[in-house]
Amino acid sequence: MTLLEISDVSVHYGRIRALSGLSLTVEEGEVVTLIGANGAGKTTTMRTVSGLLPVTSGSITFEGDDITRLRADLRVVRGICQSPEGRAIFPGMTVQENLDMGCYTRKDRAAIAEDYERVFSLFPRLEERRTQVGGTMSGGEQQMLALGRALMARPRLLLLDEPSMGLAPQFIQQIFRIITEINEQGTTVLLVEQNAQQALSRAHRAYILDAGEITRTGTGAELLADPSIKDAYLGVG
Ligand code: ATP
Repeated sequence: MTLLEISDVSVHYGRIRALSGLSLTVEEGEVVTLIGANGAGKTTTMRTVSGLLPVTSGSITFEGDDITRLRADLRVVRGICQSPEGRAIFPGMTVQENLDMGCYTRKDRAAIAEDYERVFSLFPRLEERRTQVGGTMSGGEQQMLALGRALMARPRLLLLDEPSMGLAPQFIQQIFRIITEINEQGTTVLLVEQNAQQALSRAHRAYILDAGEITRTGTGAELLADPSIKDAYLGVG
């Protein structure tokens, strides 16, 4: 089943066109990654899906329903949840309080308890540090907290914007492993990454975004093997 369908979407910042007729789909159960250079429009695409930016034309459907003009908070209720670039945890709140914020709209207590278990088994560090104030955690720990908080919303579609940004190599490996695990547990993922090698090797499918337009699409493996993609995005040399 197609979970997300973006059709011919254009987005402007004032007179600057950031997305030009962008179309992509995410099928239920997939990890789909969006690769592109700085300024290509990756973050803009994510913010458009989560409802933080209005489209100038085109449409977005989720589970077959038109959500093009749906408010961001109502998209969260439908199951679209973004773990934003730059972590954006609540720095003055404890780890536990940050996780609580992820599920404050939910009422299903038993399922919430299960999800705490799941988050703590994915991220044992968060369980150890439940009472620590978020802002005093390391960069990598804050990234885990942001991901954990997003998972507490029990998303149908998890939007991840540069989850490996600024992390030490051992954390990068760990974050990608966890993304695969989250997906295997049933969450569909749309992933934006600078780390194209890792992202393509983890993704079922990928789209290449260039100056606001999709220029290539294929399976992660196909794009990884493509010499022109290698030259442009995989830093060969
Ligand atoms: P990066 O990898 O550098 O984060 P990106 O692919 O996420 O880049 P976007 O942040 O989506 O790129 O930006 C797409 C284009 O829109 C860029 O040319 C950027 O300068 C422009 N842009 C983004 N935000 C704004 C804004 N608030 N006002 C004006 N232009 C913007």
